[in-house]
Amino acid sequence: MADQAAWVVAVRAADHSGNCSQRLFSYWRRPRCNPCPCGYYGDPKRECRCNPMQITRYRQRISGPLLDRIDIHVEVPNVDYRQISSTAPEESSAEIRARVMAARTLQQDRYRSAGLTSNSALSPRLLRQHCVIDSEASGLLEHAMTNLNFSARAHDRILKVARTLADLAGLDNITANHVLEAIQYRTLDRTLLT
Ligand SMILES: [Zn+2]
Repeated sequence: MADQAAWVVAVRAADHSGNCSQRLFSYWRRPRCNPCPCGYYGDPKRECRCNPMQITRYRQRISGPLLDRIDIHVEVPNVDYRQISSTAPEESSAEIRARVMAARTLQQDRYRSAGLTSNSALSPRLLRQHCVIDSEASGLLEHAMTNLNFSARAHDRILKVARTLADLAGLDNITANHVLEAIQYRTLDRTLLT
């Protein structure tokens, strides 16, 4: 299965920042699963043999309680060697680590009085207080909920991830772009049958 496309549940920073990622994502696990029964859905090189009904049924089996605990789903297609060996400038591990630690400190300070340390721990009440979005972002989220068939549980997860993206950018306010990015991390919540 190693040569197939797969979904890894992780955050980009977690793959590059050593100790920091372990502390930051101490509640996180990185389960890996195939995107469909044959394993090739979304693969640029191999054709998926599954029909939408089979894929939906397959995803329903891995959803529910598992997805309730996972904030971010990222599709990780096969990467060919040219892309891996590309010399395009990228943010260094040290830079990412500094950004993540700053976001972490922001969250600890923000939730100190509530006895919490991270966005992921927010209760529904605190979520409404700290994950306020403007009408543009709200419209996007509503659109996604309806058109991508997101489950109700995905709604709060998206807001928490959007809050984290704003923190990583050092911004007080969650923007529409943060919500859009967070929506993209709910791949497994989308159904293929509409
Ligand atoms: Zn398939």
